[in-house]
Amino acid sequence: MKFSDIPVKPKDEKQELLKGIEVSLPSKGRDYSEGKDSVLICPSTMNEAKFISEMSPETYQENLTRLLQCLIVRPRALNPWSLTIGDRSYLFLWVRIQMSPTYQLPVMQCARCQEVFPNYSYDLTKVPIIPIGDDYTGPTEVSLPKSSDRVVLRLDTGEDEQAIQQYVKQDPAASEWVCTYIQPIVSVNDKKMSLQEKYAWQKKLDPADFGFLRQFHAWSFHGPDYANSPFECPKCKVVSLVDIPFLPEFYLPSLQFRDAMRDAIHSFALQKRSTGNDAGVEPDGVPGVHVPPHQDQRTTEG
Ligand SMILES: [Zn+2]
Repeated sequence: MKFSDIPVKPKDEKQELLKGIEVSLPSKGRDYSEGKDSVLICPSTMNEAKFISEMSPETYQENLTRLLQCLIVRPRALNPWSLTIGDRSYLFLWVRIQMSPTYQLPVMQCARCQEVFPNYSYDLTKVPIIPIGDDYTGPTEVSLPKSSDRVVLRLDTGEDEQAIQQYVKQDPAASEWVCTYIQPIVSVNDKKMSLQEKYAWQKKLDPADFGFLRQFHAWSFHGPDYANSPFECPKCKVVSLVDIPFLPEFYLPSLQFRDAMRDAIHSFALQKRSTGNDAGVEPDGVPGVHVPPHQDQRTTEG
């Protein structure tokens, strides 16, 4: 299967689907000890609605992870937190597409002709899926360019994200952004370090060495590239790249939730207006969703 071809659930093959579908992972299993490069996943259970109804901006990663755990048939004891962030992101997208392949954006604007399309239905199967490069063969030892420290680098996982969250809670002065680049370091000069030790270590690093760690991160990118999703303008036909916002509501294919939210905002705004207290809520828009023009930050890194 090509990574760009996400099969959409056929409606009349329920029995086949219950056995599961083999889904290739964008990391090609390079970091997994069992060498697994695919999972068998069953897209149709009754659990989806339950998990999705329980989601909130604070907990949606956990809700989605528990959902994945229910849907993955093989490997049986797989902990979805142990998957790379790229693989997790891909499986989340895969599950979302099985529920519904379209994602309704409040507004889409063409970067070329500036035409605005309200309530635009984006086809999520168009989100590019980047497989890891063939030159990444697994955790790799490299020498940093300035300090010559030998570091073993691997791909970052959901468990890394959890560890970082925990660490910044204990030490609010620590930068989450910095942790992203140092947490996936396996060892420094053959020594295993805690995140706290790595944090102290990176403070003494030359900017060129830290830049090297960032470059590795960009170079080993894999999974859905939401920031470079193609959009063909229905008016001028020019294809531009847009950033599809990755929000909890992304997993709510039913528009009922969004419509209910819109109605609530609308009536709130009208209420405010009638009492002479306009808090600036746009009655026709859903705040907080913005589709910026394409900016590829990854290629400007380092
Ligand atoms: Zn256009």
